[in-house]
Amino acid sequence: MKIHEYQGKDILRQFGVPVPRGIPAFTVQEAVEAAQKLGGPVWVVKAQIHAGGRGKGGGVQLAKTIDEVRRLAGSMLGMQLKTHQTGPEGQKVRRLYIEEGADIGKEYYLSIVTDRATQKLAFIASSEGGMDIEEVKRAKPEMIITEFVDPLAGLGPEQALKIAVGIGLPAPAQAQAVDIMRRLYQCYMDTDASLLEINPLNCDGQNRLTALDAKFNFDANALWRHPEIVAYRDFEEEDPAEVLASKFDLAYISMDGNIGCLVNGAGLAMATMDTIKLFGGAPANFLDVGGGATAEKVTEAFKIMLGNPKVKGILVNIFGGIMRCDTIATGVISACKAVNLSVPLVVRMKGTNEEPGKKLLAESGLPIIAADTMADAAQRIVAAVR
Ligand code: ADP
Ligand code: MG
Repeated sequence: MKIHEYQGKDILRQFGVPVPRGIPAFTVQEAVEAAQKLGGPVWVVKAQIHAGGRGKGGGVQLAKTIDEVRRLAGSMLGMQLKTHQTGPEGQKVRRLYIEEGADIGKEYYLSIVTDRATQKLAFIASSEGGMDIEEVKRAKPEMIITEFVDPLAGLGPEQALKIAVGIGLPAPAQAQAVDIMRRLYQCYMDTDASLLEINPLNCDGQNRLTALDAKFNFDANALWRHPEIVAYRDFEEEDPAEVLASKFDLAYISMDGNIGCLVNGAGLAMATMDTIKLFGGAPANFLDVGGGATAEKVTEAFKIMLGNPKVKGILVNIFGGIMRCDTIATGVISACKAVNLSVPLVVRMKGTNEEPGKKLLAESGLPIIAADTMADAAQRIVAAVR
């Protein structure tokens, strides 16, 4: 789950990480009042969307008067902000953050991610802050350092100092950098984050460090123990299909292709997508209906898939274990009737009550294409959408 910059900075403040003073605003009037409350002489008006690269797209701008704050807030609110992370249509700006202008000295990059390969936390740091880390990685990979931190040992001062020295932070700022990194580590662990990125970490003329940007991702599987983070959720920033799916407890992720997939079990769903790809097709979504899918849930899943105008066919791939094939077949039949299915549908079922399930499908009178193996099913749906 992602959150906005101003929410991320709220969290950083709680962990004692220095951030500029700032106030969120949802209207031009609130933006003006926020600027008045903060006091000048310089403010930064920052568009709040769940995507980075806002600066380059015109979503982070400096104001030197209250009138300028008013003008910028007026032009930013409601605009479609386009950045390299939003896609070509951009994202609508509905919230702003009015922040005091910082004295920019040198910008550094600092982030933490979970590294599955080493089963550790990776601290990624660079002297080249303020720009995309992907771009630094491409042009100057030697300017990025990575330090792996064992979650059983934590981030000790020596390792933090190594990072600070490694990115060339001036000596007078190093002690504060060590302190900030250890706080970020604590914050990452305590909030079950999966990404925490500070870009830039500003080192001002007095060698004081401040986090000027804050990007968090949280592990969705740990959200149940963080109601305070769930409270930050902004549904308007999320894919509507994914929001809808989450209401029905369906694990759904939108993709770019044209074949909708309905599968039980995350592993089988991944394998199904791979198989579609193998035969030259492209999945429109990942969808795991879970072990206890009811006919209602299957119907909702069909509605969500068909709500995507790109979908030209559907592949249902079910392994009947605890879930029985005849239950799924009943669900598929009622879903087809409820949504007036108009695209080709391939169904492959194996396992418990396979025969009664297949019989139900065959006798339903619906134009369902039956398949026996996964390869067979994938080939049939790929051919059907062509
Ligand atoms: P994004 O990464 O989405 O472009 P940032 O918050 O990193 O947005 O802002 C982009 C740039 O704007 C920063 O690299 C920094 O140079 C400048 N900036 C951001 N916040 C402030 C601030 N409070 N004061 C001065 N400059 C800022
Ligand atoms: Mg940034």
